[in-house]
Amino acid sequence: MHPIVAGRGLAAVFLCLVPLASPAANDNAVPPDISAKTLEMLQRSVGFKTVEGEGQVPAYAEYLAGELKAHGFAAEDVTITPRGETATLTARYRGTDPKLKPILIASHMDVVPAKREDWERDPFTAVVENGFVFGRGASDNKFGLVTSTAALFWLRQEGFKPKRDIIIVLSGDEETSMETTAALAQELKGAELLLNSDAGGANLGDDGKPIVYAMQAAEKTYMDFEVTTTNPGGHSSRPGATNAIYDLARIVDRLAGFRFPPKTNEITKAYFKAAGAITPAPTGPAMLRYADNPEDKEAYELLVSYPEYVGQVGTTCVATTLRGGHAPNALPQSATVGINCRVFPGESVEYVQSMLTKVIDDPEAQIKLIYKPVPSDASPLREDVMKALRKAIDLRAPGLPIVPSMSAGATDSLHFRNAGVPSYGVGGLFTNPKDSFAHGLNERIPVASIDGAVVQWRSLIRDLSR
Ligand SMILES: [Zn+2]
Repeated sequence: MHPIVAGRGLAAVFLCLVPLASPAANDNAVPPDISAKTLEMLQRSVGFKTVEGEGQVPAYAEYLAGELKAHGFAAEDVTITPRGETATLTARYRGTDPKLKPILIASHMDVVPAKREDWERDPFTAVVENGFVFGRGASDNKFGLVTSTAALFWLRQEGFKPKRDIIIVLSGDEETSMETTAALAQELKGAELLLNSDAGGANLGDDGKPIVYAMQAAEKTYMDFEVTTTNPGGHSSRPGATNAIYDLARIVDRLAGFRFPPKTNEITKAYFKAAGAITPAPTGPAMLRYADNPEDKEAYELLVSYPEYVGQVGTTCVATTLRGGHAPNALPQSATVGINCRVFPGESVEYVQSMLTKVIDDPEAQIKLIYKPVPSDASPLREDVMKALRKAIDLRAPGLPIVPSMSAGATDSLHFRNAGVPSYGVGGLFTNPKDSFAHGLNERIPVASIDGAVVQWRSLIRDLSR
């Protein structure tokens, strides 16, 4: 996943910002052997068809374990755990103080399917062309996996000794059931924090310059409900006073006019403050007013009118599917509407269901939760993390604005936040939203982003582990 937080219209304002730091030269020069290894690993990684059901994740994990051991990880510190047809991999870079809690560097090894006939190229053979690496998983999430791992190779090579253990945590089914993620989160729930390579990143403008860096610190919770009305039915030539479809239509009408109350948290406040300062009127000032006071009706009404902001000001529930009746000449015995909710961190299933029950306002209708959610609270914007991220981003793009973000979900961070580990999406991909094809056809990443990502990861990991 790779959240996009700001429109490209903001470019002009961002570019006026003056560089803030001039880093030491060696901090942003990736050693040539590490740089070459990173590109090679990314290409090799794309070649493993780690799609659900293909059974390729264990082989990919073996390949990665070989690279880790070749770059200074002790064999006993690299663990592959088979889990069904997939697997997880953890690798521990030992720190000097065993009393300190470890930091986790998370990525996922699996990818979503890709059909050869739909792609211009074989999706599972990495091709470097026109400054891009093409291939399924190139951006989601093998770029993040490889660049964060290569940063550890670099730290090994320079003999860096962290105080805390650094643990690479690779899941094997993030794109599907996340059972491997849940298992890893249980095993590692005492960790200090998690840095996820599968979220966060910068948008590039059409001139190739970065506009804004988004850091993911929260995810909304996904919930699905179904509301069903029932009726004895009968012959359509004898309509009665009640009808399951009419009853459902009235419910759907009430849902259409309903909104959950406005809500903010530390992340969305910081987001609206940062975005508000650089977004033209009337939206920018509305963002600032809303960040100060979510009860500001006028600001709220303006923000909910934008699809890109409606999810940032509260829980949303929307009708997505509809079915009902069984024959053109019979009265319907049932009608069902499916409702998808994206729930603000901290709001429970019970709360959402009780709100829906109130709006539906029909004691005969059945409301059923059909997807069991994993609640996860927003992670606090810790000073140490924000400081380390600021420094790491300055190595690549001095002064680039960093905006905290809450995404619609979901990444592996969901399970780790649920297990009490603060988790931050701090990926190193800098890309133009026009070139972002995660999950889509001709997925690609700019080659120019690779070294910068390694620089960013090395700085972040070094600062947060010492
Ligand atoms: Zn992903």
